[in-house]
Amino acid sequence: MARVRLKNIKKVYPNGFEAVKDFNLDIEDKEFIVLVGPSGCGKSTTLRMIAGLEEISEGELYIEEKMVNDIAPKDRDIAMVFQNYALYPHMTVYDNMAFGLKLRKRSKEEIKERVFNAAKILGIEHLLDRKPKQLSGGQRQRVALGRAIVRNPKVFLMDEPLSNLDAKLRVQMRAEISKLHQRLETTFVYVTHDQTEALTMGTRIVVMKDGVIQQAADPQTIYEHPANRFVAGFIGSPPMNFIDAAAVQEKEDIYIVFKGGKVKLPKAKAKRFQEKGQVGKQVVLGIRPEHVNLCADEGSEGIRGRVEVTEPLGAETYVYLNVEGNNLISRVYSDWKVGVNDRVKLEFHLDKIHVFDQESEKAIF
Ligand code: ATP
Repeated sequence: MARVRLKNIKKVYPNGFEAVKDFNLDIEDKEFIVLVGPSGCGKSTTLRMIAGLEEISEGELYIEEKMVNDIAPKDRDIAMVFQNYALYPHMTVYDNMAFGLKLRKRSKEEIKERVFNAAKILGIEHLLDRKPKQLSGGQRQRVALGRAIVRNPKVFLMDEPLSNLDAKLRVQMRAEISKLHQRLETTFVYVTHDQTEALTMGTRIVVMKDGVIQQAADPQTIYEHPANRFVAGFIGSPPMNFIDAAAVQEKEDIYIVFKGGKVKLPKAKAKRFQEKGQVGKQVVLGIRPEHVNLCADEGSEGIRGRVEVTEPLGAETYVYLNVEGNNLISRVYSDWKVGVNDRVKLEFHLDKIHVFDQESEKAIF
């Protein structure tokens, strides 16, 4: 069992800067938690507090049932993997992996067994006699992971471990770390600024901004039901389209009206809207690029736009549109041919639209 609980955790740096504000999170055993957010949002600070590398200013940190605020990093039963791998250049791969165990005075036989086991899991048995400078970036990353695995920790902490790898290797290592998590059945806490990494790896994603949790949920919920405009815009690529609009009631129906068009809310959403007293308010309409369909500019009804740029990506094309001054992106199959300056009609998947309060930026449904 390896539960980690952060209760009202706060970090104020000596210069007075509040990097993490009233952070509450229960990390369950065997979860793969990803802390994600833009640079400076406090994710590394949070991870370093769990590791014991940064003092906790206020609040309580528990590993299992034990409060560990004042427990030294080496006694916390955690292992951390860093972005720069932090390998000892003068030691062989074997010695790098064995180092922590030697410090803990484990027997030679036990060390050998654990290092060989970890090397086997990671496919680096043939590299054990090499020095770090004789390794590729991906191999170094595996050694850094190996050094954590041999410790058999209760919790793995990883701070942007893939950011020094090229794009292709990053995708490969992403899958390997996910497999490692399944195989080790241990709790992982992983920090990244990359929303794709978060979506693909996390069993639960914690989106942070300015030291505050914006939403903590499984990847699908975060993607389909973002709690606010920030989460909606941060998760997903290309990002969600946002249009300033107003919510207007016409007879029984509620319309989201904006420059260049309007959409009618489906019944269930309209009901939630009324219950929350949002009718007549200024709102922001959100729609993901894959939910904006394009069709030929026919008929008189509907939303019209002009194509500004097309970005073909093989199977699909990103189409950048201008709808009366609003910039929108649509993701279409590449066999739908469209050219710059074409006028097209836009269709929104109405059951996929999001509406945010313009002032609080919170999702209305
Ligand atoms: P990145 O992705 O860039 O690493 P992050 O989300 O991990 O960002 P942190 O490294 O946790 O962010 O930093 C959070 C905030 O705290 C930043 O604004 C940073 O400038 C500030 N900060 C970090 N360390 C210190 C320090 N020792 N003293 C003062 N402020 C600090």
